[in-house]
Amino acid sequence: MTTTTRAQSIDVCSPADGRTIGTVRTSSAEDVRQTVSQLRATQPQWAALPVAARVRWMHRFRDWIYANEQRINNLLQAETGKPPAEIGIELSSSLSVLHYYCDRAEKFLADETPWPTSLVTALKALRIRHVPYQVVGVISPWNFPLAMFLWDAIPALLAGAAVIVKPSEHTPLAATAVLEGWTEIGAPPVFTGVNGAGSTGAAVVNAVDFIQFTGSARTGTAIAATAAAALKPYSLELGGNDPAIVLADADLDQTAQGIALGGMLNSGQMCVSVERVYAVADIYDELVTRVADLVRSLRDAGDGFDVDITGLITADQLEIVTRHVDDAVAKGATAVTGGRKADAGQGFEPTVLTGVDHTMAVMNEETFGPVLPIMRVADVDEAIRLANDSPFGLSASVWSRNRSGALRIAARLEAGTVNINDAATHILCHPIPQSGWKTSGVGARLGGPYGIRKFTRTQAITANRIELSVIGKLAGFPY
Ligand code: NAD
Repeated sequence: MTTTTRAQSIDVCSPADGRTIGTVRTSSAEDVRQTVSQLRATQPQWAALPVAARVRWMHRFRDWIYANEQRINNLLQAETGKPPAEIGIELSSSLSVLHYYCDRAEKFLADETPWPTSLVTALKALRIRHVPYQVVGVISPWNFPLAMFLWDAIPALLAGAAVIVKPSEHTPLAATAVLEGWTEIGAPPVFTGVNGAGSTGAAVVNAVDFIQFTGSARTGTAIAATAAAALKPYSLELGGNDPAIVLADADLDQTAQGIALGGMLNSGQMCVSVERVYAVADIYDELVTRVADLVRSLRDAGDGFDVDITGLITADQLEIVTRHVDDAVAKGATAVTGGRKADAGQGFEPTVLTGVDHTMAVMNEETFGPVLPIMRVADVDEAIRLANDSPFGLSASVWSRNRSGALRIAARLEAGTVNINDAATHILCHPIPQSGWKTSGVGARLGGPYGIRKFTRTQAITANRIELSVIGKLAGFPY
């Protein structure tokens, strides 16, 4: 639901019925500057703590979140309108990132001592340090209001940075409640948040040392332009239009399940949702029937609160989804199921489209809604060509019983993550570096050592092991 921004505050509205469910104070650019300078003052003591001490604070923070889980989940439910099962997954997946990095931060951040590789390196002791940025700004979207900031803030804090969070103006309530926990446990004041719309986000970009942004390509482009002018480093996790390729030898039961889940989770409002399907002719009709049957069985937001999938979070998002489906139908596509706004609330009916092609927005742009267009292709080469015919490159999936054939297809796909007989849920695999190719991301790595080291700079240290005159003589110098 679109929020109302007054001079000093934002009224947050329920996407289910439009009523105001909370208010947050808006931070001005001056507020942001002051907050960042306070963080800058305390960060050196935080970075000086041993990693194990930072891990202990993180464990206390986790305990506080568990103790306040019900209250946080209620806020999350009210501001997103998501079904209870999806709410539970969000908090637990945020905390599983906490466990993952608490267990490994020490190893991922440890100094490295490379082996000598030449005469010159043998004559020096070499060391690589991972030194945190002072203040990291985490700017997050509305689709997963907690996970989208905690997945970055937790490793950044463990790395020794201070963190300022700017949650989406559409869903700031649960994030603000979680941030209060850091203060309540008495942790060093290195983790806080500010609220507001784009202008507050822009003030964060200007004030911090490293920008971690998750959101649309449009906002990412604006942030990159500002950061470039200041030569400031950033990591952008952006949108996607993720393809699924279904081959003739696919297990159609599993494939239909996976595609119907990957396309409909969170009403398709996931960066890694399955957004377009390319099925070879042999199994096309059977796949469409199976996916449509599953999608038809979902109870949508029009069924009131007893739903399997949520409504769309903002009126703007509903408008985009409606426009994409109308455009496809006007150009000859058929809605096998769904195809219009749900009867109640801000939902869109879970939809399967056939007869689609690449002249349609639904195949070219990010729809971010419960819509699965399924296109018939002649063979795997056509499927790969069409899958790559996109400005995006976030994730892709291949559905086949032939694992080695699927691996060969993966190598031809332009995407940061490729799933075989799986879709969308890889987002919960913390050891892998998830990254967006093409316009889906710049410098972004979620997970693994990359997901914590991106909040650090490397410092290389060399220490000479021999008489310098030897080097001078080797270089032909008289001394
Ligand atoms: P958005 O770009 O509209 O907003 C994201 C955040 O940026 C919000 O907090 C917003 O207030 C802030 N913002 C807006 N203008 C700004 C500016 N000029 N400077 C600084 N901050 C500014 O995105 P959204 O609509 O909230 O989220 C949906 C998008 O996020 C989709 O495109 C989705 O694919 C993407 N997303 C990507 C990932 C990923 O990991 N790749 C994950 C989740 C969502």
